[in-house]
Amino acid sequence: MNPIFADAPTTIFETMSRLAMQHDAINLGQGFPDDPGPEDVRAKAAAALLSGWNQYPPMMGIPDLRQAVATHYKRFHKLDLDWQSEVMITSGATEALADSLLAILQPGDEVVLFQPMYDAYLPLVKRAGGVPKFVTLRPPHWRIDEAALQAAFSPKTKAVIFNNPLNPTASVFPREDLELLGRYLVKYDAIAICDEVWEHVLFDGLSHTPLISLPGLRERCIKIGSAGKIFSLTGWKVGFVCAAPAIMKVLAKAHQYVTFTTPPNLQAAVAYGLDKDDAYFTGMRQTLQTARDRFAKGLTEAGLTVLPSQATYFLNVDLSPISNDVDDAAFCQNMVEQAKVAAIPVSAFYSEDQVKTVIRFCFAKTYDKLDGAIERIAAHI
Ligand code: PMP
Ligand code: GLN
Repeated sequence: MNPIFADAPTTIFETMSRLAMQHDAINLGQGFPDDPGPEDVRAKAAAALLSGWNQYPPMMGIPDLRQAVATHYKRFHKLDLDWQSEVMITSGATEALADSLLAILQPGDEVVLFQPMYDAYLPLVKRAGGVPKFVTLRPPHWRIDEAALQAAFSPKTKAVIFNNPLNPTASVFPREDLELLGRYLVKYDAIAICDEVWEHVLFDGLSHTPLISLPGLRERCIKIGSAGKIFSLTGWKVGFVCAAPAIMKVLAKAHQYVTFTTPPNLQAAVAYGLDKDDAYFTGMRQTLQTARDRFAKGLTEAGLTVLPSQATYFLNVDLSPISNDVDDAAFCQNMVEQAKVAAIPVSAFYSEDQVKTVIRFCFAKTYDKLDGAIERIAAHI
């Protein structure tokens, strides 16, 4: 057995969800929303399932969806993408990440990873033969430090995985950081695998800048998106990859051997959804922002230190004011058992040099659950 997977722990999401069930806790750990997703989009999927084509769709994705992705990114990010040579549909962002790493890396190539990082990155990098080099981000601003970036890059750097907006920190990198990273990509002739699944879930009027839109980066970025976060349908696993034709040709080869394709009915419904009017997208952000504000207020009144949440379904709490030697994992274990509220320790998203003072809550939940959690936490701390 390969030790990268044989010795891997069960993911923190699965672990905390299981503990939440075992202790009958309110589960604010794993990031999935209570919102069932837009009914018209789900109705499209159901209709396509019953009356449509249920055999293998085209390997690159159904033309309607590939065109819808190109049109959507033109509308929101002013990107000019040729849907035939630069857009591919995958089974979730996770498959797109795996395809990208399998397509790009040769054994021994170095990959720069910003930690905290999404749990799938490191095992996929290693299994594809890559050698990880870490850049550590720290609260409360989670900005890129140039000295750390310089130390991580080398002539062996082949790729970078760049997640913006960033899960679990709920932060958005300012343009200055994108430009800094861009300079290193050019200097070291590296490719950025841009995980932008949270591109629509931004608050307080912030807007998303895809790394691929920066001058000089068009040919060295792979832009990854996911319908899961855009439509609150995390179980659908419909992802989109955009890259210049020379890169896309190789990504397509990886995709054809990994999953080959993605359910056609879900693709048809996502194509319809991407074309929804602006009110849907602003409404989704507003609903989440209102929940974020309600939860942040409750936690603050309960005496906790809430970190800024600019994006995603998440809000982080800094435990360091509670005690000098606090341990986020122990705190979460205790909280799920005693207070019956599940959260995620952010140290689980680091490989080394962990920050152990921050925990992540998912606020994309009903007010009943958020208010109930606040009451329980207030009584617990
Ligand atoms: N990347 C990040 C940063 C995520 O937060 C998630 C899901 N929460 C994914 C990738 C996975 O996306 P998908 O479900 O489309 O595979
Ligand atoms: N992306 C979700 C989160 O950050 C979880 C995904 C999963 O469970 N694998 O919580």
